[in-house]
Formats: sequence, structure tokens, C-alpha cells
Amino acid sequence: MIEQQETKSTTRRVSCIVCPMSCVGEVEIAEGQVIRTAGFSCERGRVYAKTEVTAPKRVLTTTVKIHGGALSLLPVVSRQPLPKGKIAACVRCLAAVEVQAPVREGEIIAENILGLGVDIVASRDVAAVLPLQ
Ligand code: SF4
Repeated sequence: MIEQQETKSTTRRVSCIVCPMSCVGEVEIAEGQVIRTAGFSCERGRVYAKTEVTAPKRVLTTTVKIHGGALSLLPVVSRQPLPKGKIAACVRCLAAVEVQAPVREGEIIAENILGLGVDIVASRDVAAVLPLQ
């Protein structure tokens, strides 16, 4: 007698955001593994969709406090996408960060945030402002 094991699978619709074509496709998952993709026009889209359903990532953009500059908040960005589930913890971590002007675009503001292997960098220059005499 041949026993057949039925594997439960789920299908998720995913909108690809890699390029302006905005393909919408499906990803079928069984036991945590992607077993099928459909509707994506290229390999970059298939890779994005698989990552989106198994380990989604996002680029983090936020601000940190800056002293002595033309702005009171410094825009910052993650150099690479971070695990989506860690974004809130990274934002909480950055809420405690304060820097001193001047700051140059690309300067590391938080190195290897939460040990995730991603640096948070300034996304613009902020010049120092001399105090009024
Ligand atoms: S699947 Fe390919 S062509 Fe379609 S949106 Fe994604 S990257 Fe663009």
C-alpha cells in the first residue's frame, strides 16, 4: 500500500517593488519553503517575492537628534535592508542616539545596529552653526 502524505500549502499574493513594472504574482509555501512562484516577469522579482514571504526586509529611514547644526534632526538611513521584524527595535535604539554637527552624508551614525551587520548612516550633510555672540 502506498501512503500519500498531503502537504498543506498556502499561497500569497506579492506585489514586486523592485522596478516600475509593479508585477503582481503568487508565492506558494509549504512547510516554510517556497514551492512555486508565478506571475513575476524576471528572476529579480522571483527572488524578491521569495524573500518577502520567508524573511521580509525593509530599508529603514528615520531621524536622530543633532546638536549645533542648522537642523535639529538628522535624517538617517540603513545602508542595506534590515529584517522587517527588527525595524521597530532599531527605531527605539536610534531614539537614544544624539550626534554633534557637522555631519557629512554617508557618515556612520550607528555601526552594526543591534548586531544585524548593517550600519545606519547620515542621508544628508548638516553644517555646524556658530552660536550667536
Ligand atoms: S518581477 Fe521583474 S519586471 Fe516585474 S516588477 Fe519585479 S523586477 Fe520588475
